[in-house]
Amino acid sequence: MVEMQETLLPAMKDIPREDLLTRLKEKQVTILTGFEAVCVECGLLQVRDKEGKLSPVRADTIIIAAGAVSDAPLLHPLREKIPDVYVIGEAVRPGNAGNALRSAASLAVRL
Ligand SMILES: Cc1cc2nc3c(=O)[nH]c(=O)nc-3n(C[C@H](O)[C@H](O)[C@H](O)COP(=O)(O)OP(=O)(O)OC[C@H]3O[C@@H](n4cnc5c(N)ncnc54)[C@H](O)[C@@H]3O)c2cc1C
Repeated sequence: MVEMQETLLPAMKDIPREDLLTRLKEKQVTILTGFEAVCVECGLLQVRDKEGKLSPVRADTIIIAAGAVSDAPLLHPLREKIPDVYVIGEAVRPGNAGNALRSAASLAVRL
């Protein structure tokens, strides 16, 4: 598992985070934090450290789970027709169900 931040799952709550980290350890998953996945060449994943040094990582299968962005294509067309349009949940930013529910509840209170 390659993660470019210094820690895995920094935004997750402590209990589920510890549970997931324990399960990864039990399954002997190799974790590289502080490394950026750069490209795949000849079946090797190239990772780059903070100093810019490239190193190859052997992998049979590569699953990319990075780069989540929010998607709200209706926002601007609706705002042109209706003055009061509000955005909540993952249409604001990718997160989890708790964050989405909190942003909905917070808006409901303000309205
Ligand atoms: C594989 C996966 C696993 C996850 N596991 C967890 C987890 O274990 N715990 C956790 O807390 N979070 C988890 N999440 C994140 C969680 O699902 C989201 O944070 C949460 O669902 C966001 O809620 P939302 O209401 O903002 O968006 P959504 O739940 O995506 O709801 C948006 C809804 O709008 C509908 N929609 C879109 N466009 C239109 C349109 N034009 N007209 C009508 N309807 C439309 C969509 O079909 C969708 O049903 C997971 C996400 C994924 C992808």
